[in-house]
Amino acid sequence: MPENTSPNVAVIGAGPAGLSAAYRLRDRARITVFEREPRPGGHANTVEVEENGRVLGLDTAFVVFNPRFYPRLCAFFAELGVETVAHPGGFEFFDLDSGLEFGTEEMELEESEIEARYAAKYPEFPDVWREVRRFHEESRRDFSRGRADMSLGEYLDRNGYSTEFRHSYLIMLCSAVWSVPAELIWEMPAATVIAFFVGHDEGGLGGRRVDWRTVGGGSISYVRKALAATGPDLRISEPVTGVRQEAHGVTVTTAAGSSTFDYVVLATHADEAFALLENPTEAQRAALEGVRYSSSRVVLHKDASLMPTVRERWGAWNYGKTKADGETRCFVTYYLNRLHDFTAEKDYFVTLDPPRPPDPDLVIAEFDYTHPVIDVALRDRQSVIYEANEGTGVKLCGSYFHSKELGPDLIGSHEAAFSAGAEAAARILDEIS
Ligand SMILES: Cc1cc2nc3c(=O)[nH]c(=O)nc-3n(C[C@H](O)[C@H](O)[C@H](O)COP(=O)(O)OP(=O)(O)OC[C@H]3O[C@@H](n4cnc5c(N)ncnc54)[C@H](O)[C@@H]3O)c2cc1C
Repeated sequence: MPENTSPNVAVIGAGPAGLSAAYRLRDRARITVFEREPRPGGHANTVEVEENGRVLGLDTAFVVFNPRFYPRLCAFFAELGVETVAHPGGFEFFDLDSGLEFGTEEMELEESEIEARYAAKYPEFPDVWREVRRFHEESRRDFSRGRADMSLGEYLDRNGYSTEFRHSYLIMLCSAVWSVPAELIWEMPAATVIAFFVGHDEGGLGGRRVDWRTVGGGSISYVRKALAATGPDLRISEPVTGVRQEAHGVTVTTAAGSSTFDYVVLATHADEAFALLENPTEAQRAALEGVRYSSSRVVLHKDASLMPTVRERWGAWNYGKTKADGETRCFVTYYLNRLHDFTAEKDYFVTLDPPRPPDPDLVIAEFDYTHPVIDVALRDRQSVIYEANEGTGVKLCGSYFHSKELGPDLIGSHEAAFSAGAEAAARILDEIS
């Protein structure tokens, strides 16, 4: 238990970045956590449903991780005794209009088998399949030779990839990994996208060669354990409205009034942090100003019409495509029974940006989440972003930072947020020791 003379630290935002910072400071500081929402966790947002007396934890945003690319998060889970559950991966693409479906299995077939299976009914598909093979071979080479330092759109244009390949394959894989709307995919740094496929597996989130896991009981289980181990003064439903760096300390304002802390860990999204911080330093401004966010409508439901038509083909990740209002719409449906690896009477799905609303009688909950747009500008600012926390009363963190251990392409994930939170706390510990 920290003594009364220990520094007084406010953590603003109880998402993974804030929870990580608070946990790391727990023995050396008196901690107050301010959270705007009525629940802690940020994107670790589990809905608990009861089925025949059993509670099922259904994750609606953060759901998967793996030991290789989430080293700090996994070490934290191990330290807290958080149960993790492996799942078999697998993805399925489905076009609701044409009926074309393909998935993990087809990506592993020989070209002749693809021709035999698809050429008659879907003559354009074998070409897409060949482009997928070409993309994974050539992009790996280009990445290692430093020939991918441009936006994804430019990379695909320069290398002559077709619209079909982009819309029937890449766009869907990417929008699921980074939870971004399809139209923003082309602005992503090509190197970041390629690094993900090289590091993980060509199947992305559905790759079967990666030890993908989820949190047993849903991510709320880790949030509860983290808060129990930290024991902060937790101010739920108390949005912070202003943060001011003073000569001695930092003043935090909420509807309940203003208080001064020795340090503040500002663990909201960058745009929110920039709006809250009344007097940013130049380095803080450089870290925060202009970071873009996109929002996704996320629906937790039981409507199988947003899944591939044949049940046997349901993957953990299901990438859909359809025309709605004259436009091609891409969406992803997570099959939670498979991701969380439970058997249940009902099927539970999460759909991101559904092209049409699921049957209202089958909807369990809906959320809007915002997520940083990982564009070339955000990747570029990673080279100096950690300088924002040198010698300041306010330490910044969140998934708009990269993981120092894994490099500047690891932005936007739970590991990035968790790792940035731990670094923010480490700066405070350095300064008070
Ligand atoms: C749909 C979706 C699926 C995802 N799936 C995965 C996945 O499977 N694996 C993965 O690695 N990553 C995934 N991510 C990304 C990852 O979960 C996030 O990047 C990460 O949670 C961000 O952490 P954070 O702490 O920066 O922000 P958040 O988790 O958003 O937490 C920020 C917190 O700050 C609070 N806050 C904001 N303003 C204030 C204020 N004024 N006062 C007090 N509190 C405030 C918010 O309410 C929130 O609780 C997903 C993201 C989305 C949107």
